[in-house]
Amino acid sequence: MALGRRRTDPAPIDGVDTILADLDGVVYTGPGAIPHAVEALERARASARVGYITNNASRTDATVAEHLTGLGLTVVPSDVVTSPQAAVRLLADLVPAASVILVVGGDGLVAEVEKAGFRVTRSADDAPAAVVQGFAPHVGWEQLAEAAFALQGEHAERPWVATNTDWTIPVARGIAPGNGTLVSAVHTAVGRLPRVAGKPETPMFTLAVERFGATHALVVGDRLDTDILGANRAGLASAHVLTGVDRVKQLLAAVPDQRPTFVLEHLGQLFEPYPAAETAERRDVVTTRVAGAEIERRGDTLTVTRAGDRRIDLVRAGAAAIWGSGIPIYGLRVPAELYSDA
Ligand SMILES: [Mg+2]
Repeated sequence: MALGRRRTDPAPIDGVDTILADLDGVVYTGPGAIPHAVEALERARASARVGYITNNASRTDATVAEHLTGLGLTVVPSDVVTSPQAAVRLLADLVPAASVILVVGGDGLVAEVEKAGFRVTRSADDAPAAVVQGFAPHVGWEQLAEAAFALQGEHAERPWVATNTDWTIPVARGIAPGNGTLVSAVHTAVGRLPRVAGKPETPMFTLAVERFGATHALVVGDRLDTDILGANRAGLASAHVLTGVDRVKQLLAAVPDQRPTFVLEHLGQLFEPYPAAETAERRDVVTTRVAGAEIERRGDTLTVTRAGDRRIDLVRAGAAAIWGSGIPIYGLRVPAELYSDA
């Protein structure tokens, strides 16, 4: 579009029938809800189904629903899609119904495996049809060794499904090893890798889309390498909210398959007009404008020519200018005012 043209811009929520929201960094951080999140997600229920998708395998859908309800959201357990549910859905494609499954993990995973009609064992000696592995605080050497015994030698083709491969898990006392680290221990013993159900792999998104009957889903996340990458792999639109792990600096540097459809400072902006980025090229200068913010690029050098009234307009213009340049972030000179988290 030529610079200077005006039009009414749609809001990110427009046309969306299902929101698939991540939890940590989107709905809450630590014990508290993130500003605007609860109000926005409740408001979204007027026009869309609101579902929640979480890689955390140690909490059941009911536990998550109870937590969210406590923050003021209207949520029932079936609104929550967990990585154990996606793992079990994946298992159902890999082994016959009612098979014996070796479970490495906690009660949440056992409950989902049994709910799907499978039988649970903890021993490789019970000839399991597959191994499913998820995080629980008590998973230790003995469970990991059973998984290894069940997956090696003559069982080298036996299906192995991991709920997720997050390397770390945040807990009250700090950052602790996550399921990816425990999967890696088994991997070291057996020399192969599992099928993965959670973000950024697609089974969890597929399950959510099926369950909610979504045709125009919007994934809302705070991590580019799980939420946004997963949405892109699943072919879904995404909104990256700058209230969690990945902030402006990471956003501007995002590789092509981790770039979101929308960038939001907070979830209230789901309902605000989203001004389209307008780009014009004149001789060796590429100008990118979002609302009142304007950035020029000459070769590998970006300059902020107008900061505009709203910080988010400048961030969106910066992302459009950088992503549209076709030059990797390390090949560009980017002014600090674009990415500093002021
Ligand atoms: Mg998150």
